[in-house]
Amino acid sequence: MNQARIAIIGGGISGLYAAYLLQSQGISDYVLLEARERLGGRVLSVGLASTGEALPDQTNRFDLGPSWFWPDYQPQLDNLVAGLGLERFAQPTQGDMLIERVGVSPARTTGYFSSPASVRLLGGMTALVDALAAGVNPDNVRIGQTVRRIHASEHHLQAECESLDGMRESWAVEKVLLAAPPRLLAQDIEFIPALPTSVAQQWRNTSTWMAPHAKYVAVFESAFWSKTGLSGQARSAVGPMVEIHDASSPSGHAALFGFIGIPAPTRKAMPQEHLQAMCRAQLVRLFGPEAGMPVAEFLKDWAQDPLTSVAQDLLDGGQHSISLGASVDSSLWAGRLIGIGSEWSPQFPGYIAGAIEAAALGVRLMLEKKRLPPRRTRPSQTDRI
Ligand SMILES: Cc1cc2nc3c(=O)[nH]c(=O)nc-3n(C[C@H](O)[C@H](O)[C@H](O)COP(=O)(O)OP(=O)(O)OC[C@H]3O[C@@H](n4cnc5c(N)ncnc54)[C@H](O)[C@@H]3O)c2cc1C
Repeated sequence: MNQARIAIIGGGISGLYAAYLLQSQGISDYVLLEARERLGGRVLSVGLASTGEALPDQTNRFDLGPSWFWPDYQPQLDNLVAGLGLERFAQPTQGDMLIERVGVSPARTTGYFSSPASVRLLGGMTALVDALAAGVNPDNVRIGQTVRRIHASEHHLQAECESLDGMRESWAVEKVLLAAPPRLLAQDIEFIPALPTSVAQQWRNTSTWMAPHAKYVAVFESAFWSKTGLSGQARSAVGPMVEIHDASSPSGHAALFGFIGIPAPTRKAMPQEHLQAMCRAQLVRLFGPEAGMPVAEFLKDWAQDPLTSVAQDLLDGGQHSISLGASVDSSLWAGRLIGIGSEWSPQFPGYIAGAIEAAALGVRLMLEKKRLPPRRTRPSQTDRI
């Protein structure tokens, strides 16, 4: 069996930040287990080859997951972004907004300004994933490893994983940091002994924020909408997109993105090309014929991603969670199992800032419960079970 002192389950922002914090405190005896073959979780930016010769491709990326954060009231995240040397810029809002109502032509109105201001990261939100991952030893990260079972005994916790090709391995650890949506963990991981009913129920009742949503992105050579004084923003009662924004990369291509308003269960039965064609047609209605000729388009339906959503997410609208206890203080689990995914955040549950807050609090709680002196050994990956 492999051994490490800490297992982090999930390689989204919360899991990566926990690994980054451990590493920066000289604690390297941990393993991060991520089910997908990529890091980032709900953060996903897709790229195009850059238009400018001198620009690396990473600057020309578009967010299919989160786009924004709000430095004015999320200073912990903003300080991290600054400390990692990432560049942020204000969401473009200059120009008029369009309103689309049923049965009438789209109407122009004064643009909407978010207050406090929404900002984006140059290179998309994946720039944060890349920067955190760069501060983590790749030898401690195992991608394509789905944790199926956690078994608690007097001596250790045993996390059993399955790789994409069905190989199984297990890790004996002292502590587990749960860096994934609570209801997904409650559904997918068998806890032995079972979690207290109240805890399991609370996790199942906790919506995963934005899980029921889908985003469409269309990339263009230029921001043609700005030539007519439009901001790229629109609100629509016609759909399929209900809310549209400028998604341009300041140093790359122009783009528009929209949140799809068709409910997740209905979308499930729709072919992706059909939905994309509907989105393109809507952009043409709103912004004119140039909108019908994107150089690239992307659609990501998070409701159909089994590593984000469970069936209940499609039905309950994805509200923010309320005050989840981070540690499971019962019998064998006491002080050994700590929730650090964004939904565990006290201030910003569901947000990127929440993932950062919950990870920082969880790592502090874990180290306080039992001081772990710095140890610079790698986790051992000896045999497979
Ligand atoms: C469309 C969309 C738009 C959003 N917009 C914004 C925004 O503008 N601003 C904002 O602040 N937030 C936004 N969010 C929310 C933001 O993305 C999340 O708060 C944040 O990414 C959560 O990070 P996390 O690490 O807690 O969880 P996740 O990103 O969900 O990461 C969990 C990780 O755990 C892995 N995992 C799950 N089960 C297992 C298992 N059994 N074994 C191993 N690994 C497992 C998953 O593969 C995943 O990588 C948006 C989300 C979506 C989907």
